Amino acid sequence: MKFNTKLPHAKTSIFPTMTALANQHGAVNLAQGFPGFGADPILLELICEYTRKGFNQYAPLTGLVTLKERLSSKTAKAGGRYYHPEREVCITAGATQAINTAVTAVVSEGDEVIILDPCYDCYEPAVILNKGIPVRSALKKGSYEVDWDDLKSKVTANTRMIMINSPHNPTGTLWSQDDIDHLVNVVKHTDIVVLSDEVYEHLVYDGKKHLSICNVPELSERAFVVYSFGKTYHLTGWRAGYVLAPDILMKEFIKCHQFQIYAVNTPIQHALADYCNDEQAYLSLGDFFGEKRDFFHKCIEGSRFRPLGTSGTYFSLLDYSNITEENDMEFANRLTVDHGVAAIPISGFFEDNRQDQVLRFCFAKEQEELEKAAELLLKV
Ligand code: GLN
Repeated sequence: MKFNTKLPHAKTSIFPTMTALANQHGAVNLAQGFPGFGADPILLELICEYTRKGFNQYAPLTGLVTLKERLSSKTAKAGGRYYHPEREVCITAGATQAINTAVTAVVSEGDEVIILDPCYDCYEPAVILNKGIPVRSALKKGSYEVDWDDLKSKVTANTRMIMINSPHNPTGTLWSQDDIDHLVNVVKHTDIVVLSDEVYEHLVYDGKKHLSICNVPELSERAFVVYSFGKTYHLTGWRAGYVLAPDILMKEFIKCHQFQIYAVNTPIQHALADYCNDEQAYLSLGDFFGEKRDFFHKCIEGSRFRPLGTSGTYFSLLDYSNITEENDMEFANRLTVDHGVAAIPISGFFEDNRQDQVLRFCFAKEQEELEKAAELLLKV
């Protein structure tokens, strides 16, 4: 059979690849970003309850109204735009679907989409599948801050979208007010759509604050803002997320969503609608994961790995330049196979496989698992 591959350069995503390698070698898996502990039993009970009560047929196309109402209120309460629950909120099968559908909704052949370099691995394929042109703007070396001069130089009459992500995966950096102001200026008087991936919104440390695009009227009026229940409630396998966007954008999003996915799992939406009334469940996450970050860093003190510091997400970049000159893929493989700890080589997040000699470690794990990993890392 002859046909053209639509993603000629795509390999299997690094996340399942490293998880498979970790499993094969019985390594501690700090690679793929998922929590090493269960979700709240109350939430698990709710899903059983709704399944048993018979909430097992199709959900409304854009999601359960009560869930959307609560998400709309949650956003407004945090100082964000008021999103009309019926028209401007859509429940998705995880953030990856939300990102893909948003890109499909507005990016056409030849449209340019500015993405930051490094960035999460699903952004670029989403653009390519829609015949758009990904245009990378590299974050500053060392600090991983946005290089606004560079980004501005990449904006053309064909720029359709700018994709941003704060807290940032894989670097753990946060956007500042200055970044927001720059973006406002860049998009002013243009038709550029912003896609803001905010799945780690609650995982912010050291008293810092997540600055949501929802809270900036000049941006929210032209943005898709993407969230993840998986990240917030420790259930990455439920594949549940949502997107907020003004009516004009959401209309197009829903046209695509209905034919791509139709609607998302019903009992999960009922369970989440009840559970998201509990503000503490998400407001406590900064402290909860902040302690894990500090614990992990403390445990590896005295090793030859150097943490670069992370202000958000549940990832920490560790510089390994004191250990080896190997590239990050080679070293990540060897670390898994010979030393029993799996991490993510981040070169795959860069356009040119840039080598910063760092690996990404997920610290969303139980203390014992972090201790075990640290013990092994201390020997490297
Ligand atoms: N978002 C998670 C990470 O960055 C993993 C997602 C996935 O495995 N697809 O590790």
